[in-house]
Amino acid sequence: MSGSIAEELEELRRQGLHRRLRPVAGSQGSRVWMEGREVLLLCSNNYLGLADHPLLKEAAVRAVERFGTGSGASRLVSGTMELHEALEERLARFKGTEAALLFNSGYAANSGIIPALAGKGDVIFSDRLNHASIVDGALLSRAKLVRYPHNDVAALRRLLEANPTPGRRLIVTDGVFSMDGDVAPLRELVALKREHGALLMVDDAHGTGVLGAGGRGSGEMLGVTGEIDLQMGTLGKALGSFGAYVAASRELVEYLVNRARSFIFSTSLPPAALAASLAAIDLVDSPEGETLRRRLDRKAGFFREAATEAGFDTMGSKTQIVPLLVGEAELAMTFTQRLLDEGIFAQGIRPPTVPAGTCRLRCTFMATHEDRDLVRAVAVMARIGRELGVI
Ligand SMILES: *Cc1c(COP(=O)(O)O)cnc(C)c1O
Repeated sequence: MSGSIAEELEELRRQGLHRRLRPVAGSQGSRVWMEGREVLLLCSNNYLGLADHPLLKEAAVRAVERFGTGSGASRLVSGTMELHEALEERLARFKGTEAALLFNSGYAANSGIIPALAGKGDVIFSDRLNHASIVDGALLSRAKLVRYPHNDVAALRRLLEANPTPGRRLIVTDGVFSMDGDVAPLRELVALKREHGALLMVDDAHGTGVLGAGGRGSGEMLGVTGEIDLQMGTLGKALGSFGAYVAASRELVEYLVNRARSFIFSTSLPPAALAASLAAIDLVDSPEGETLRRRLDRKAGFFREAATEAGFDTMGSKTQIVPLLVGEAELAMTFTQRLLDEGIFAQGIRPPTVPAGTCRLRCTFMATHEDRDLVRAVAVMARIGRELGVI
């Protein structure tokens, strides 16, 4: 047994797919300490810089003083505290829905919501580039899983027509695709789900706090927020805290409380995370939030244009996630290491996170990045990219 594990690890190394942890010292700022040196951080999802914002820290500290460190139980036992209810009420108001329900992480949300909504006899239609937690939720559900080509509405229509069922049909998509930085065609998906009597679920892990008026997400940006049955989002990325939510009708929330196993069988979020999330939503939904979003948009836009001009393929990115296509795994990891040697941390992304042959540097931006750091980063990336034959 242990022999075969060693062999598997060796095989991963041979294929350039072996992964290891790289500890980062201090808080998640735009520059961090790593392996004994300061590096420019170009792969954090702390898009608005809220993960060490004074208002969030203060809210978390106060919550610990008042409510302690742990919630002590799952929500349906004794783990529903006033902060859970306050945050759910605030999230529903933020998203403009009847209700909202917290989950312990985005992974827990997707792997709990999807099997609650779909089971044997039902069909799940999932974009091919959806996040792994959606795929895992679909596999757990025992429903039929139909993966449609990325953002291909015509193909999805044909697949809906080819897969009728007396059961439920669920269309699920990332709002912003986490490894590509492009946006789902939500207007068209809303039309399709209506036409075919399906439910639509949007995972807005990367849109929440960033896109649309008030940072309400990709649905708001595309003017269809009220038409999405389940708007899932996370609290650990742009919101700088931890956890996840789904905003939906009162009926769907009541149903998930009774059916979503990752909600039912897990200790609820602790006070510090809840209070930080509450402070984050207030901030995101304020003029300061607007300023941060504009700054973020400008930084990512500058980088996307400069990288494209240098000859990189940014894979259709439209957001603060800007991948640079590299190709093979080894090459992507060499690129990451060469950049690290020059004080820039942009993580190479390999299978199974992305399809083979599309390994990339996934560069992500923060409102707190300095312009001069980004100017230097593009120049260094272009030089190394040419040396490695990427561009
Ligand atoms: C990060 C991410 C998740 C998981 O959220 P966590 O809170 O980190 O568990 C789910 N979906 C997408 C699209 C993500 O990018």
